[in-house]
Amino acid sequence: MHEILDHLDDNAIVLDIGSGPGSFPDSATRARVFRVDLDPPGRVPQRFALADALALPFKTATFDAVILNHSLEHFPQWKLAVQEIGRVVKKSGAAYIAVPDASTFSDRLYRKVFRDRGGHVNLFVDAPKLAHALAWYLGLPHAATRVLQTSLVFQNRHNTNHAGIRPEMRFLGLPEPLLALAIRLIRTIDKHRQTRLGVYGWAFFFGKLGEPVILTPRLNVCVRCGQAHPDEYLRALQLLRPTALPWHQYHCPDCGCANWFVPEIGTNA
Ligand SMILES: [Zn+2]
Repeated sequence: MHEILDHLDDNAIVLDIGSGPGSFPDSATRARVFRVDLDPPGRVPQRFALADALALPFKTATFDAVILNHSLEHFPQWKLAVQEIGRVVKKSGAAYIAVPDASTFSDRLYRKVFRDRGGHVNLFVDAPKLAHALAWYLGLPHAATRVLQTSLVFQNRHNTNHAGIRPEMRFLGLPEPLLALAIRLIRTIDKHRQTRLGVYGWAFFFGKLGEPVILTPRLNVCVRCGQAHPDEYLRALQLLRPTALPWHQYHCPDCGCANWFVPEIGTNA
């Protein structure tokens, strides 16, 4: 979503919907960020409204950008919600909407291990059809769709083994080093067998973006924080370390977790 957030100035306003405490850090943009959620988050962010996406407490054409980062799959009446979101975003604005592909191994697993399907009430499976519908209800042109890769962060015991989340889960997942190795193996299988085991969903971009969207899937997704890092970014930071296995490791620049590095298309490890 940096294709939008990096390019907003300090007069701009961003709406982060279904955000919990925030689906991206305040430091990701110079713009002012309003967070909205139906449930009160554990930590209330600076500008926060407890509201339903079907009736947003904002005037028409208020926001320069809107972000729905893994929240639309939880909205019972998503078309009406997106129409309401389209009302409050400026016609010259932009939108980023990320959702899981319900046909993937990752999302099927998520819905199995969390009780009540993890709250996923919408099972999206057709990216072009969804992009078309979202553009229609937002009133913004579709600009790009990027395929997202999973790191199964919801199966990392570092993240799941605490009282807040334990009752919601049927299976608490794997120890972090084992999960990291499993993700590296999944990427290898996908590369050699042309499978989609590691695919998670899509990020849709609408309206006026500050820079073109690079469509190459980001294969290095941290198994603890879920942050995706481009191959060249990790190399530029000189984070790659050789190991006894034929793969390199890197420590996530955001959370410090050890991950196995995956070269992206056209590059070598
Ligand atoms: Zn991380």
